[in-house]
Amino acid sequence: MSAVIPIQNAAPQACADMPVLRERGQREVFCGLTGIIWLHRKIQDAFFLVVGSRTCAHLIQSAAGVMIFAEPRFATAIIDERDLAGLADANAELDRVVARLLERRPEIKMLFLVGSCPSEVIKLDLSRAASRLSAHFSPRVRVLNYSGSGIETTFTQGEDACLASLVPVLPTAPADAPAQLLVVGTLADVVEDQFTRLFQQLGIGPVQFFPPRRSTDLPAIGPQTRFLLAQPFLADTARLLESRGATRLAAPFPLGAEGTSLWMQAAADAMGVPQDHVEQVTAPARARSSAALARHRSQLEGKRIFFFPDSQLEVPIARFLARELGMQLVEVGSPYLHRQHLAAELALLPPGTQLSEGQHVEKQLDRCRAAAPDIVVCGLGLANPLEAEGMTTKWVIELVFTPIQGFEQAADLAELFARPLVRRLRLAV
Ligand code: SF4
Repeated sequence: MSAVIPIQNAAPQACADMPVLRERGQREVFCGLTGIIWLHRKIQDAFFLVVGSRTCAHLIQSAAGVMIFAEPRFATAIIDERDLAGLADANAELDRVVARLLERRPEIKMLFLVGSCPSEVIKLDLSRAASRLSAHFSPRVRVLNYSGSGIETTFTQGEDACLASLVPVLPTAPADAPAQLLVVGTLADVVEDQFTRLFQQLGIGPVQFFPPRRSTDLPAIGPQTRFLLAQPFLADTARLLESRGATRLAAPFPLGAEGTSLWMQAAADAMGVPQDHVEQVTAPARARSSAALARHRSQLEGKRIFFFPDSQLEVPIARFLARELGMQLVEVGSPYLHRQHLAAELALLPPGTQLSEGQHVEKQLDRCRAAAPDIVVCGLGLANPLEAEGMTTKWVIELVFTPIQGFEQAADLAELFARPLVRRLRLAV
């Protein structure tokens, strides 16, 4: 048990106040439609209808892999030239598409109309369309809308927009309900099951998860709700939950053994569970995690890593790689640094960490080339050119498609960074 990382509260360090390089300029990121890929897997009776162009359809088809054998739970209603020229009534066409879809797919209980750049350009009011269609198909199907447009957002904000559209329809918890824990942010089912078991062993429960696996199991919320963010990109969702009386529990994110320990400890503190009980319950999982991480430490320790801004997962992942695997952080770029939600994370970063917020891709590429890091974390659009220049890269998109949260997944997260370095070494031999 000596290898187990003790649960320690984050001691604020200078990093929390360190200056941040703010950049505005050209960005290289996917749009919020990408979130449909993990959201449709999670909410199993929901359908995501993108109202967009052929480009939007191609984006999600290629991000999802082509699913020609399954009945997919996402599709694109194509806005064509006639719609763009104002020659067709886009609302009437949308109503027809939705009616045909819901007739053919009776298992759908929730339909999201997902806005895109083209639907915003022609000013198609999807919130009015959602109310109109909801009134028509209620109670069988609830229709909601959100924007996945890439005009001003990054790809993980699609999930934030989706969950934020759900908050107003969450039921209200009875006034005399006891305090309840809500975990907010999409987690793979296997991770959710592990957390459920650990919370049960801690005597906290039943814990609710948002989004739920079925749209008919929406959690009730109110002033008794204490919520833990499982993802760092849910600013709007958190704000709306707070406006309904729920309280956010400040914690690092559940990435790595340390982050997961502190995340569970925050829930335990809020629910009055003593720290020694938390230590006892989580000790076996922390020991397994530490042992599994040791295998990757030899490959990652001392390696220099550079993060381009993409997912908003950069700060928690950098903290994990620096503290649990000994990597050196050259630059940690994030599209947006939410100072409140990241406070516990920033306090754990090594002093002197170079943070950057926003993007000016040319300037950042210059800094990256000058620093010559061992590995670069970036989106798909930058990965191939950087590989061609001889750099080793890690695609951010894999971080959201792979279960990485929790004790049991910490080594899988480390492996995502070790694998490209090992591959590069083999190629060099
Ligand atoms: S929503 Fe905008 S950025 Fe995303 S695929 Fe469609 S056109 Fe491109």
